[in-house]
Amino acid sequence: MGKKKFILEFIDKRYGKNIKVKRMRNQEIFELLIETILSQRTRDENSSKAARRLFSVARTPKQIIKISIKKLQSLIRISGPYRQKAKRIKQASKIILSNYKNKVPQSRDELMKLYGVGQKTSAIVLMYGFGIPKIAVDVHVEQISKRLGLVLPTDKPQKIEAKLEKLFPINKWYLINLGFVMFGKEICLTRNPRCNICPLLTVCPYGLDYGIKRFQK
Ligand code: SF4
Repeated sequence: MGKKKFILEFIDKRYGKNIKVKRMRNQEIFELLIETILSQRTRDENSSKAARRLFSVARTPKQIIKISIKKLQSLIRISGPYRQKAKRIKQASKIILSNYKNKVPQSRDELMKLYGVGQKTSAIVLMYGFGIPKIAVDVHVEQISKRLGLVLPTDKPQKIEAKLEKLFPINKWYLINLGFVMFGKEICLTRNPRCNICPLLTVCPYGLDYGIKRFQK
């Protein structure tokens, strides 16, 4: 069996049943966008806390533009670079309200016109929000693809997205994306990958190399 098929079958068998594609409601898509902006350059637990605090006060574009920038900053302070994020959230809310009739736009080009929305954030909103197939390259997707040798170690997220979308059929993008995230939290951990129990070890250059180096110590 080829490497790509082997990886796909493993991910499907282990995580496939927990992966469902569905389109969110408009309000949920807006909240997803804000949460994704908050998650930039910070840990998930901090961005979730910041989102909960913000949404307890304001959760629509209209409500967000009404609160002061100082108040917004204090609500999301835990999310890392909060001044920059507050500015991004304000600007994105303003544009959504005035240019898109209060609805998050559904195309990548339009999404990327929103302040603070780049390649990864737009892919996440398209995929998880609108249910449009996409591969969003987060830290897990990037690291696992590199370790497995599906992309080059020097590839940037934009290149990784294009390569993975070429490598796997469109109906498997959702599975690969979410499956890699789950796999990255369970086995292929960011700091200490659990190569010793990994079912993909036989097709993983990083794991084989890592195992040999540990054996040689
Ligand atoms: Fe990740 Fe190790 Fe498995 Fe390779 S062998 S996919 S590095 S856990």
